[in-house]
Formats: sequence, structure tokens, C-alpha cells
Amino acid sequence: MDARLAARRPVLRAKPGERRRTVPRDGQREVGVGVRVPFLIIGGGMAAGLCRARAGFDVHIVEQAPRLGALGAGIQLAPNALRVLSALDLGPDLAAVAVYPRNLVFLHADTGRRLTTVDLGDAFRARYGQLYTVLHRGDLLDILLAACRAHERVTLESGREVVEVRDAEGHSATVWFADGETYACEAVIGADGLWSRTRALVADDVPLCSGYVAYRGTVPAEDLPDSVRPDDELVWIVPGKHLVQYPIRRRELHNQVAFFRSRRYRPGSAAGDDWGAADELREHFAASAEQVRAAVALLGTHRRWPMYDRAPVDNWTTGRVTLLGDAAHPMLQYLVQGACQAIEDTECLARHLVAHDGKAPAAFAAYQAERIPRTAAVQRLARVWGEVWHDDAPVIPALRDRLFARRAPDDYTYLDWLYRHPAR
Ligand SMILES: Cc1cc2nc3c(=O)[nH]c(=O)nc-3n(C[C@H](O)[C@H](O)[C@H](O)COP(=O)(O)OP(=O)(O)OC[C@H]3O[C@@H](n4cnc5c(N)ncnc54)[C@H](O)[C@@H]3O)c2cc1C
Repeated sequence: MDARLAARRPVLRAKPGERRRTVPRDGQREVGVGVRVPFLIIGGGMAAGLCRARAGFDVHIVEQAPRLGALGAGIQLAPNALRVLSALDLGPDLAAVAVYPRNLVFLHADTGRRLTTVDLGDAFRARYGQLYTVLHRGDLLDILLAACRAHERVTLESGREVVEVRDAEGHSATVWFADGETYACEAVIGADGLWSRTRALVADDVPLCSGYVAYRGTVPAEDLPDSVRPDDELVWIVPGKHLVQYPIRRRELHNQVAFFRSRRYRPGSAAGDDWGAADELREHFAASAEQVRAAVALLGTHRRWPMYDRAPVDNWTTGRVTLLGDAAHPMLQYLVQGACQAIEDTECLARHLVAHDGKAPAAFAAYQAERIPRTAAVQRLARVWGEVWHDDAPVIPALRDRLFARRAPDDYTYLDWLYRHPAR
């Protein structure tokens, strides 16, 4: 390594909130080639980085945001993701900030009628080996970032926007950054989300807009009406909209997300167009139960999240480049599995890298062969589950409510296929 790179090496361990202009620990600059990187992850990808590092391989992560970590509102983690995070020894860190709701309660958003309850307590833990966990997304990212920074095989850079990725017929992969710099990589994982640039290597599709939009935010617990039961997660559903509420960060905050189908959305409307605006939010929930209206009134309206997914594809890989998380299998959030499936990906990928002695093309092929059928099923079912919540025609809500009313709180029949994987 030349003296200039060696001098830059100490700044590799980026701290939260710091923008770093660095090169990988093992970086070597070659004229006309760029910095050589053994294994690069584009995007957040911190769980993937940790899994790979724990398997004994170096990994470098680049993220376009100026800051790694603290971000967003609440996130729900189901046992299938928690099993992976626990294997990374993150359980105690999660427990310090997480909340374990006692029940998941579905209610009618207009009448307030309880539709069904899923017991998330002892019976749930006995079945899945984990408690259903909700926390602040920023707390999760901070935990992952701290673990990455503590691991000597992981290096990170923030403020690094990738503009293009190319695979050189399986011999190497080249990544271009917005500032013109290039990295020559032995392998690349595109974990660059819904609007992934890496995905352009394997598919020419675009995100599909559902016409739904979300408003989300956190509220100090004391600002919520007394009627909210802080131990529970509440999902208020009615045709065309729903509201989710749960406590996070040791119950100091409540996460709230309101979703609705915009009447102004038209196929082809762009994310920035005037659909799903704040006036529609207020209008949609104006006739809702008092508790729902009170919650919606507390939501900030400065930002909204249009809801997109993509159809499943049958290939994520070209040579030494593959996809992970939303870049590979973006899904509507109704099953609350987007991040959970991304975390499952990380475990599977690391396992196949070990099995194939770190040889990326073979490991990537095995990884996608295992993951695509499962994630495609989750993507498809997420759409269906959204329709079951939101359908306007009376028949689906009527059937749903009958089914809901008949099930016992500890009946997990419909959750096993999601939560029992990966096997304990
Ligand atoms: C309202 C809402 C609620 C949700 N709640 C849950 C939940 O409770 N539980 C759950 O499991 N899932 C949930 N999801 C889904 C979940 O947020 C996503 O599936 C998950 O964040 C995907 O993770 P990812 O790392 O693949 O992509 P992202 O989280 O989108 O991360 C991609 C990263 O790549 C970076 N990036 C993008 N392009 C580039 C580039 N060119 N160069 C460098 N960096 C780049 C981005 O800055 C970003 O940090 C929810 C989604 C929504 C919309």
C-alpha cells in the first residue's frame, strides 16, 4: 500500500454523522483501474457486511447518505430476522432499546371494533424462539453501525454515491462514483434499495406504484390519548386505508404510520406529483374512530412515502455482482417483511460464501437459487394481504372478519411459513 493510502487508513472507521473520503483498508491504487476492493456492498447493507465479516471475509460498505446510522421512525422485526441478528450477538443491544408488544391487535378503523388479536407473548416465543420486536429504525442502524465499526474486517464510507456498476464478464466488477472515482472489485452486492442502480445490470424493470402513500412519525408517549394501550401493537384497518401504532425506544416514543389510497393518483403519476397530499390524509381519516383521528392529527405532513414494489424476477446475479434486500425483492409493507427478508438474505449469502470458499460467482448462484423462490412468495403475498386489508367490495372484508373472529390469539397457522425460516 502506498504511503498516501496508508496515511488515510485510520479514517476508515467512520463514526456516525461523519462524512469520510477514504479507501478500503486493503486498498491499492492502480493507474487507470481505480482502488482495488475485495468485496464491496453498495447501500446500507450493514447486516450483510457483518455476516460476511463474521464468516471470515473482508468487506467494504459505501453509502450515499452523508451520515450512516440514526434515521427514520419505527421498524418491526419478526423472528425470522431476529434469529439472524441474534446469531450476530446483537440480541442484548436490541433488548436495551426494543419493545416487545404483548399483542398484535387488528381493529376496525371506523367503528373501533376489535377484529382479532395475535398473542405475541409466551406462546409466540415458545413457537418461534424469539419475541416479536419493535424499535426505532435509527436505533437498529446505530446498533449495526457500532458492530461494523467494532469489527476489524468491516470498513465503511458515507457520502459515496455510486453512479454505475459493471461486471467484466465474471473476472471483476467496476463501480463508478459520482465524483469520478472507480473501485475495481472482486465482487459487489447491490443493497441499494428500491431505486437500485445495480439492478439495472440484471433487469430493465421499474418500481411499480400502488397508488398508496404513507405518513409516518414518532410521538412522545405522553402526547398520545390514554386509550392507547402501550404494550400492544394496534393495526386499524378499513377499505382504502389503515393506521399502525406501536411503542418504541423503551416505550418513550410511539411510532405511527397512516396509509391510504390516493384518489388523485393516476397510473404514471410521479412520486413528486400532487397526489396523496396532506389534505387527502385528513379527509381519509375524518370519519375514523376517535383514537385514529387523534393519532392522525399528530402525524407530521412535511414528508410522505409513496408505496412501491416490483414484480419478482428470476435472476439477481451477473458474474460477480448480485443484489440484496429491496434492490432484489422490493415488496409492499403489509406483511412487514421488507427489512426482515433483507436480513434473511444476509445470512443466506454469508452461508454460501463459506460453502464456496469465498468464490463469489458460485456463492451468488447458490444464494439466489435459495432466496428467489421465498422472497418472490413474500412479495406476492404482501400484495394480496394489502388487498385483504383494503378491498372496497364487501365480500373480502366480510370473509376476513369471519376468519379473524374464529381464530384464537395463539393460532399461528398463517405465520409459520414466514417466521420459522431460517430454521432454528
Ligand atoms: C412505511 C414503511 C414501513 C416499513 N416498515 C417495515 C417494518 O416494520 N419491518 C420490515 O421488515 N420492513 C419494513 N419496511 C420495508 C423496509 O423499510 C425495507 O424493505 C428495507 O429498508 C430494505 O432495506 P434495504 O437495505 O434493502 O434498502 P434501503 O433501506 O432502501 O437502503 C438502501 C440504501 O442504499 C443507499 N443507496 C441507494 N442508492 C445508492 C447509490 N447509488 N450509491 C450509494 N448508496 C446508495 C440508500 O441511501 C440507502 O441507505 C417498511 C417500508 C415502508 C415504506
